[in-house]
Amino acid sequence: MPGFELFGDKERNQVKDVLDSGVLMRYGFDGMRNGHWKALQLEKELAKRMQTKYAQLVSSGTAALTVALASAGIGAGDEVIIPSFTFVASFESILALGAIPVMVDIDDTLTLDPSAVEKAITPNTKVVMPVHMCGSMADLGALKAICVRHKLILLEDACQAIGGTYDGKPLGSIGDLGCFSFDYVKTITCGEGGALITNNEMYYKNADHYSDHGHDHEGTDRGAESHPFLGYNYRISELHAAVGLAQIARLDDFLAIQKRNYTILRNALEPIEGVTFRRVPEGGVENYSFLNFYLPSETITQNTHSAFGAAGIDACFYWYNNNWHYYKKWDHLRTMKSLAPVAREVLDGLPDYPEAHFKKSDHWMSRTISCLIKLGWDEDEVAKRAELMASIIKKEL
Ligand SMILES: *Cc1c(COP(=O)(O)O)cnc(C)c1O
Repeated sequence: MPGFELFGDKERNQVKDVLDSGVLMRYGFDGMRNGHWKALQLEKELAKRMQTKYAQLVSSGTAALTVALASAGIGAGDEVIIPSFTFVASFESILALGAIPVMVDIDDTLTLDPSAVEKAITPNTKVVMPVHMCGSMADLGALKAICVRHKLILLEDACQAIGGTYDGKPLGSIGDLGCFSFDYVKTITCGEGGALITNNEMYYKNADHYSDHGHDHEGTDRGAESHPFLGYNYRISELHAAVGLAQIARLDDFLAIQKRNYTILRNALEPIEGVTFRRVPEGGVENYSFLNFYLPSETITQNTHSAFGAAGIDACFYWYNNNWHYYKKWDHLRTMKSLAPVAREVLDGLPDYPEAHFKKSDHWMSRTISCLIKLGWDEDEVAKRAELMASIIKKEL
């Protein structure tokens, strides 16, 4: 997945433009910037590539989620439905706004189970946030139907699946809002950065203002701009945007490399009886950033994962007991360990997380291995890795 593997002259030249002008900020300083508007240009490129009307760049993927929620008017006491398998940014962005993260089960897509979503809806529910983990997507058709039926906002976290599609449309563009991360380990990177995309003009305008202290960005005198509402600073710098501009031009090349490497690994594992693959919803195309597969039991999966490690097969993950991505290790959320008192709406509204169990999620996650697909591998290297993985799995089964 990581675009940093192929960092080179294209990125360097883009950054040099910014360094040469010395304007490291995305707004203002029109006369000094030698015509370089890297953030603005990256927003245009991203909106075009993702087939949406608008894109707003921000400082991280977590910021993108926060700004997206804020732009849609989400705040104190509003409930946002998220999956039990995700990245901590999902609940961080929600809590930052005083809203309530309501975790529900995943299914064999490794993303939100639509029936679990439907069961979790209350009068306070405002948003359904599918997270397209590890290169593939949630059942967006089913989720969209639920959102329409209950008048909810669909916010796609496509941070780990940029370039994947559903029904021929780019992931992130199908919901009311979609978010991407360009942090250092994502398919394309800015070093640090993120973006939201939308076709909704009001959400876009809100995001544009909110991510820059509420500035309305009217006219050319920054000091004279008015503040229609409260905001915050989630701006990206021109230096970061410049790196992203070079990387987005390479996205389709990166996806092609991922697909080639993924296919070699998958073809080697496919014939093994006992190996099954993560379900991709009908109409979906992965971005091939991970190969995700199931083994028949928790024990076999754990042993296989350990054997991979011992044989030097790196970058394969057993998320079931991973710190970052699965609810079982989120004690800080489960017990609300916060530096400061937590808003009353949140404390009163949170589900009983210390007692919460997600059995259906456990069923899938305890048997899942996810292997990161690297861009830097050559074909021989992947073929050898595939052969070794297949032989280890056969031994453990
Ligand atoms: C990386 C990631 C984020 C957050 O991105 P940052 O840019 O690191 O803040 C959010 N959601 C998912 C699924 C991610 O993988």
